[in-house]
Parts: sequence; structure tokens; C-alpha cells
Amino acid sequence: MLLLRTRLSTRHRHHVRAQRRLPLLVLLKQVSKEQHQHGTRRPQTKMDKILRQRRKRKSLNTNLIIFGPPGAGKGTYTSRLATLLRIAGIATGDIFREEMKRNTALGRKVANFVNKGELVPDEIVVKILKNRVSEPDSQNGFILDGYPRTIEQAKALEKIAKIDAVIRLIVPEWIIIERLSSRRICSKCGAIYNLLYLKPEVEGVCDKCGGRLYQREDDKPVVVKGRLKVYERQTKPLLEYYKQKIPIIEVENKQIDTPPETIVKKIISELKKANIIKSIGTQ
Ligand code: ADP
Ligand code: ZN
Repeated sequence: MLLLRTRLSTRHRHHVRAQRRLPLLVLLKQVSKEQHQHGTRRPQTKMDKILRQRRKRKSLNTNLIIFGPPGAGKGTYTSRLATLLRIAGIATGDIFREEMKRNTALGRKVANFVNKGELVPDEIVVKILKNRVSEPDSQNGFILDGYPRTIEQAKALEKIAKIDAVIRLIVPEWIIIERLSSRRICSKCGAIYNLLYLKPEVEGVCDKCGGRLYQREDDKPVVVKGRLKVYERQTKPLLEYYKQKIPIIEVENKQIDTPPETIVKKIISELKKANIIKSIGTQ
């Protein structure tokens, strides 16, 4: 407050005194705005800097779902989008694989479903999701990858959080099959690679953390077929369910070698066009 006062003109000081009960930040914003309007903008001061940094740090506070068949690229885009939009990326499949790796009680409970490409029972998934969404990093917004997968899960989500938009990835089936069969995952950090189109720099080793790459049990051809069936039967109908409720942003990818960055850019520009997000980072 002292710093603030010494740097303001008499007129502003008077104004500040009249509004003393306002929280400091609101006050700083008001003064700054007025100075702009009155054309009395001073050279940049410390408090301007604080305000600017604060504005920058503010996240988008948007809750999104990324939707599409297995192998559409949900995981690849989710991690990039989460970083860019400064929101939490939440992948239920990743959570289950992590629990399985650590051989926890939950991991042992879900392993059979996951490895066979079947859905984990709703009551288990809903509980996990609820806990994850209540963690601090999710309070700035989140993107859900692999949830919801059933109408039941979508209904449960409505009680947990408000969703701003569904990003629907449209990808032809031949790309899905080709992608899944050459997909590799980092055993340490979960990063996603592809032997044909998104290769690691050193074969079998994660670029990000040096972890060993492996093929998911459920990416083996017999299981992939089953997963696609499960998607058609149980998950795809969710699109109809969401149509009337939430804006659906559609992003189509017809080429297998389109770099993830291109798709991510497209998603962001579609989100802006639909007014779901305004700008990244500075608002
Ligand atoms: P993909 O999107 O490539 O199919 P995920 O990593 O999202 O793979 O999911 C892997 C497996 O984890 C699923 O096949 C399923 O067994 C389980 N799983 C993940 N999310 C859910 C969910 N929301 N409901 C039921 N099972 C799930
Ligand atoms: Zn890694």
C-alpha cells in the first residue's frame, strides 16, 4: 500500500483513499485502468509488473473432453494441450496403467479388464475420476482423455464438474489400426511414440526421460479389434448424448503422418472460433 501511494498522483491518491476497503489487487487494477483512460499512464512500475505477471499466470479455467476411438491420438494431443492451455491432462487409461505397474490393489483389480481391452466397471472409474478432478491442479481446468466412455460415466461427470466443450477427433479406421499396431509407450513417464510416424531419437528409449519403451498388452492386434468394437457399441453413442448439451468441436485428420503440432493448432483455433477459449496465456 505504501509503495502504491507514493507512486500515485494526488488525484489518484484521493481516489485510492475513498476505496480503501477494496482488496489490494482489485484496487491496483482499477487505478491502472483509470490511468489508461485518463492518459496519465506512468512509466512501468513494480506494481504494473506484478499485475502483468498475475494476468499471465491466470489459467484458462476450461474443462474439456477429448473424444474419439482408440488410436485417434487423444493421449498425444492431450499432453500437448494441457501444457499449452495450462490445465490438467487427465487420462484414466494412464492412471490404470500406473496402478498396474505399481501392482497396487486397484492395479490388480483393473488389470484383467485393461489387458483384455474391456471397460473397467463404471463404479471403479467414476471413483478414480472424482478423486483426480478434486486435486488442486484440476481447479484451473482440465482435459479428460478416455473418460467418459459410457452414458453412466457421463451422467456421473455432470455431478462432478461442468464441461465447456467436447473435442471430437475424426480419423479413418485404417489409420487407427496402423497407429495402434506401431505404438510404443514409455514405461517410466507414459509418453507416446510410434515406430513409423513418431519415432524416438534412440530406438526403444524415451526422448524425455530415458525410460524403456514397450508395447501395451492391449495394442496387440487381437485385442485392438475388441477395443474398437467396445468403442462403437458403448462409447460412440455418447456423441448423441452430448449433441444437445455441450458444444462439440470436430477436428478431422485424414493423413497418418500429420504432425501432432498441426492437429493441436487446429484444435486450439477451433476452440477459439467457438469462443470456448479466448487466447492462450495472456488472458
Ligand atoms: P485408448 O484410448 O487407446 O483405448 P486408454 O489408455 O484410454 O486407451 O484406455 C486403456 C484401457 O483402460 C481401456 O481399454 C479400458 O480397459 C481402461 N479404461 C480407461 N478409461 C476407462 C473408462 N473411462 N472406463 C472404462 N475403462 C477405462
Ligand atoms: Zn519417458
